[in-house]
Amino acid sequence: MRLSIRNVSKKYANGVQALENVSLDIPPGMYGLLGPNGAGKSTLMRTLATLQEPDAGQLLLGDIDVLNQKDAVRQTLGYLPQEFGVYPKASAEELLDYFAVLKGLTDRAQRRATTEALFRQTNLWDKRQQKLGGYSGGMRQRFGVAVALLGNPRLLIVDEPTAGLDPAERVRFLNLLSELGENSIVILSTHIVADVAELCTNMAIINKGRILLEASPLGAVAAL
Ligand code: ADP
Ligand code: ADP
Repeated sequence: MRLSIRNVSKKYANGVQALENVSLDIPPGMYGLLGPNGAGKSTLMRTLATLQEPDAGQLLLGDIDVLNQKDAVRQTLGYLPQEFGVYPKASAEELLDYFAVLKGLTDRAQRRATTEALFRQTNLWDKRQQKLGGYSGGMRQRFGVAVALLGNPRLLIVDEPTAGLDPAERVRFLNLLSELGENSIVILSTHIVADVAELCTNMAIINKGRILLEASPLGAVAAL
């Protein structure tokens, strides 16, 4: 399954052309979307996550027409926004269980098995009873991944995930993403060249709403 982005444009009411005729062909694996602040990355990520409408263009996830079949795409989509807001007074365990209910996992035993697997996968099993307010930035991001993975998405969208992480947390987080890229499409939006160079099998560079380059990262980084 591939994600095809075709001629997507978006102009905000204030006149900013955030995306201009963006077309990308995204295969399974880790895909890097690299660009400076204000390039249009979040606008594209929110559009892919069906949270905002473009003015023009088409998005195809396999044979799902994303803009016209939002319910279908939401069933197979995970989205980790730039700032993952959580309730600081809830424990991770309570909150993940709650999100699982919202995802439609109504069977208690099944929910327990699913959330345990996700806590183990994100290395938070020992920390599951702590309140989110006491989590570090890296732990919060990994918790965000656990939430995004409820429902086994085939497309995972991660917007600027390493901002604010210390080096050890960053490596741990990126390794987690690269494991996920083995079974699905993972799109990593970032302004950090190294995030893309180290992990992504394919990439694009975006600036001022336009795609400047599509490549496999080693070649692209050499060209910079
Ligand atoms: P990035 O994620 O690469 O930093 P964004 O997609 O957030 O880029 O922003 C692209 C451009 O669109 C920027 O100039 C930004 O200020 C503008 N922008 C983003 N969101 C809005 C909005 N809701 N209304 C108006 N302008 C916006
Ligand atoms: P990014 O860091 O990706 O550029 P921001 O943190 O600037 O995104 O944007 C945070 C929120 O503010 C988003 O919901 C975005 O849509 C909105 N926003 C960003 N830029 C503008 C803008 N120029 N005018 C109005 N809203 C904006």
